[in-house]
Amino acid sequence: METISIIDSKNHVNEKVKIGVWLTNKRSSGKIAFLQLRDGSAYFQGVVVKNNVSEEVFKIAKEVKQETSMYVTGTIHEDSRSHFGYEIEVEDIEIVGESEDYPITPKEHGTDFLMDHRHLWLRSSRQFAIMKIRNEMIRATYEFFNKEGFMKVDAPILTGSAPEGTTELFHTKYFDRDAYLSQSGQLYEEAGAMAYGKVFSFGPTFRAEKSKTRRHLIEFWMIEPEMAFTHQEESLEVQERYIAYLVQNVLDHCDYELDILGRDKDVLKRYTELPYPRISYDEAIKMLQDSGEFPDVEWGADFGSPEETYLAEQFSKPVFVMNYPKAIKPFYMKPHPTRDDVVICADLLAPEGYGEIIGGSERATDTEYLKEQIEKAGLNMKDYEWYLDLRRYGSVPHSGFGLGLERAVTWITGEDHIREAIPFPRLLNRIYP
Ligand code: ATP
Ligand code: MG
Ligand code: MG
Ligand code: MG
Repeated sequence: METISIIDSKNHVNEKVKIGVWLTNKRSSGKIAFLQLRDGSAYFQGVVVKNNVSEEVFKIAKEVKQETSMYVTGTIHEDSRSHFGYEIEVEDIEIVGESEDYPITPKEHGTDFLMDHRHLWLRSSRQFAIMKIRNEMIRATYEFFNKEGFMKVDAPILTGSAPEGTTELFHTKYFDRDAYLSQSGQLYEEAGAMAYGKVFSFGPTFRAEKSKTRRHLIEFWMIEPEMAFTHQEESLEVQERYIAYLVQNVLDHCDYELDILGRDKDVLKRYTELPYPRISYDEAIKMLQDSGEFPDVEWGADFGSPEETYLAEQFSKPVFVMNYPKAIKPFYMKPHPTRDDVVICADLLAPEGYGEIIGGSERATDTEYLKEQIEKAGLNMKDYEWYLDLRRYGSVPHSGFGLGLERAVTWITGEDHIREAIPFPRLLNRIYP
């Protein structure tokens, strides 16, 4: 008899199989016990009928505690009532590891309690579905950039200087000097692009975000592509193709998981239709002002969650907001050719209240301009000599962007809070477990 995983049971209908599982829940009456089982590949039900099994097996089925690990042996049947579509009629149960009283019961628990028990909460079906979708998005990311001819160039996590200002930096010691945890791999990706043309990095990113929001983690994963010989418009096309590819792959490969989450697939399908609308920052400001809902918003302001939510609501798809004021964007963005108050950049705002999922720009190429900006930003010129070399030796127009993986996962799964989109969230008040 074959040992299989639950997900494979669709290929073993009416066959006798053995599966290693944990018990997530159970109910029983006098003559029958229903065991809810999981093995990390899917969730399904084991049915134990008193008259068909030994007395000992039925006793185990009635008494076994939540999260006990065991091997069940039995025959696979179709079960049209469940998301998964199959169940096992159990003939034998072999306990592998007993469980103490499990702290997470099928009843409702508060957020803090679940966060304290994150290492166990990962076993829940919702978390399973989110992590599977996250995994699919990572897989699709590698596939997409590989197909499009990008090379993965890893950026360092320990850095000697800070690209994005200093307030959100994590400081650490590097032997007898100072170092910082990476807030973005971008400058290194620019070096990669000048070496290999099209590159991307995918790694952890650290920001000491002091405010509690539903969209900010302290530690998150960022995908940062960078492309040589590429202007803004071509970069926007790569961005929308990439997002549509992520959504399409989740639709194609995570149907079961989307059902567990109750995510509306027609809404997701809409996000695969290209192109995405593009508006300028100026137009965005006008829309906000005309709405009457943002009486205080003025040209020059950065957008927070309410503004981004409003803007994306006006379109039923992600929308690019282009060319923000220079004063609120980092030093390396390309200045506009005819206006000195804006830079060539775009944020991609996701609908349904998820806000910015991508920030990107064309990069400044003029060495003198960059030097001025570095000085203005109060950064140490010595730290950026290597970066300026990229302009000194065969500089080309180039563009890139950063996508926050967990932002995108939260949006595609339809979750309320970004903490659900990473296995072990690091939050303002949480570094355990
Ligand atoms: P926000 O305006 O939401 O604070 P940002 O403009 O500071 O984001 P960027 O520096 O442009 O972010 O980083 C690129 C992407 O990284 C963002 O578009 C977002 O998807 C993601 N991101 C930024 N900060 C966080 C965070 N604290 N937690 C999770 N993802 C983040
Ligand atoms: Mg920010
Ligand atoms: Mg932003
Ligand atoms: Mg941004």
